[in-house]
Amino acid sequence: MSDAQTFVPSTRETTLGVMGGGQLGRMFVHAAQRLGYFTAVLDADPVSPAGRVSHHHIRTGYTDPEGLAQLAAVSCAITTEFENVPAAALATLAQARPVAPAAAAVAIAQDRAQEKAHFLRCGVPVAPHAVIETEAQLAAVMDDLLPGILKTARMGYDGKGQVRVATRSELAAAWADLQRVPCVLEKMLPLALECSVIVARGADGTCVNLPVQRNLHRGGILAVTEVFEGNIDPALAERAVAATKSVAAGLDYVGVLCVEFFVLEPSSPEAKALGGLVVNEMAPRPHNSGHYSIEACDVSQFELQVRTMAGLPLTQPRQHSPSIMLNLLGDLWPASGEPDWAAVLALPGTHLHLYGKAKAAPGRKMGHLTITAATVEGARATALKACGVLGIVAF
Ligand code: ATP
Ligand code: MG
Repeated sequence: MSDAQTFVPSTRETTLGVMGGGQLGRMFVHAAQRLGYFTAVLDADPVSPAGRVSHHHIRTGYTDPEGLAQLAAVSCAITTEFENVPAAALATLAQARPVAPAAAAVAIAQDRAQEKAHFLRCGVPVAPHAVIETEAQLAAVMDDLLPGILKTARMGYDGKGQVRVATRSELAAAWADLQRVPCVLEKMLPLALECSVIVARGADGTCVNLPVQRNLHRGGILAVTEVFEGNIDPALAERAVAATKSVAAGLDYVGVLCVEFFVLEPSSPEAKALGGLVVNEMAPRPHNSGHYSIEACDVSQFELQVRTMAGLPLTQPRQHSPSIMLNLLGDLWPASGEPDWAAVLALPGTHLHLYGKAKAAPGRKMGHLTITAATVEGARATALKACGVLGIVAF
């Protein structure tokens, strides 16, 4: 099914399918439905955020042959919202329907060691690192990678599966704690800031990008994304966009791809050695740092996902409002009840998204708040007021 196919919006029932029922799937479903498509979600959770708003909800695991057959039967094209969907499941689906992104690209993004090798093949610098799969590799680690961060090669997200280590004995203990699964040890880099770039690439090689997002992480989880002209140095922004496009082209990628970058402290030896801009990781799907595009751009990352999988034209997105996005983690929820949404919505230019998750837990992504304004100063002032109302530490 490699031939590019087009599934135009229509008043007939044309269904787009998605693997995974989380918040990214929910916002994909919203975008697809606005364009007139029907949607199908495969997720075992009977109350998954996306499953609850989709026309079809197939409640099976990602590798269940019957579930996959059902998804393929109802959908004309299929995408994924969860990067750890087994690549084999995507490959199975691809025998029946067009799948974007392809299993091979997702498989690379699922493995930190493979994704770093891909970045290097594309000529994009990565953090100095070592792959640790054996005791011999552990013993051979160079001292100059310490202090560093030991990360599981697979299945990490939101800082999970990561341990900061300062010495060789901490490294050995951390690897033992991680059950000696394959890991990557990365040198701890002096970060000036973090940013990300989202591109959408079509089967014909057309590649468009959202503006560069500046991201603030807290405790390994994205907290704030700021997007407006001047959020980062224009020359760096240009390099980050070019690097992301070459990463996508190198994968022959079809779909929405996000690449996260570190901008290094300019005076550091690492910045001199690595050139100042280092790629961290990629996500083969829309990304938390791109949620602002729903309200601040003329085409959102989720509509781009729809367009790429359905073979529709891609137009270069234009941001029309400066914006700031605040993640709403479960930590903000009082023991009983809800944060004061009415007070937040009383602030002009606030766009509240709640993902329909019943139970708030610390670190759990419950929703986000996008703030748009006519000016950067206006967006910042509103965002700080919203932080005050919600109990988010100001940035
Ligand atoms: P997610 O998938 O949610 O983006 P993750 O669990 O895959 O997160 P990373 O992106 O690898 O984790 O790391 C999370 C954060 O930890 C980064 O955004 C950065 O703030 C910090 N971090 C990670 N690696 C390094 C490094 N080598 N040097 C300095 N800081 C780092
Ligand atoms: Mg990350």
